[in-house]
Amino acid sequence: MRIVLLGPPGSGKGTQATHLAKSLGVPHISTGDLFRAQIAEETELGILANEYIAHGNLVPDEVTNAMMRERLSRADASGFVLDGYPRTLDQAHALGAMLQQLQRPLHHAILIDVPDENIVERAVGRLVCGSCGEIFHLKFKPPGVAGICDKCRGILGVREDDTPSTVRHRLTVYGRITKPVLAFYQREKILSRVDGVGPPDEIFKRVVALTEND
Ligand code: AMP
Repeated sequence: MRIVLLGPPGSGKGTQATHLAKSLGVPHISTGDLFRAQIAEETELGILANEYIAHGNLVPDEVTNAMMRERLSRADASGFVLDGYPRTLDQAHALGAMLQQLQRPLHHAILIDVPDENIVERAVGRLVCGSCGEIFHLKFKPPGVAGICDKCRGILGVREDDTPSTVRHRLTVYGRITKPVLAFYQREKILSRVDGVGPPDEIFKRVVALTEND
């Protein structure tokens, strides 16, 4: 199964993508996670990407597409859940070309739909485990012990780009640059929309129901 999850920053698509990939037994491929790993390792790509990410801007298409081309050509990527890619029309076209070449077409593009007014509140307050990547939230999913991951006891941190002003900027970028990608997949007749408001396990059921129709 090859699925793209779409949605504004803070829509919960990272959480849904993690669970969906696990339940389908395919890799969860997140461009944000790939960039953050490069940043942590201080690679040339990481240093370049950080200039954009820290300000809530998109990393240039050619850099992002090249990173994804490499990731999707690996043997484990015959099925996947993509999270955070494509984010521009150029990336959507590039992904289409890559998958056509690999003869691995997409089955679904799923939009996790959350109104703007809920978004800033959600993205601000997000906590991420520095060891295993599990996502918590100060208000909606607080950890059992403050600052400690329930799953692996790692230290929880706040993403540098989750400040209120950067989140607002990322939302503007989403509206201006990523929304056309929805229309693209609508034209391709693979776009479905899931109401992203509600408890994460309810939303997960809605996502799974869509993928079970095949
Ligand atoms: P995310 O973890 O998906 O919220 O991504 C964090 C940041 O990484 C974004 O705000 C962008 O700066 C960058 N990024 C992630 N995915 C992409 C992409 N497909 N194209 C360009 N920049 C991206």
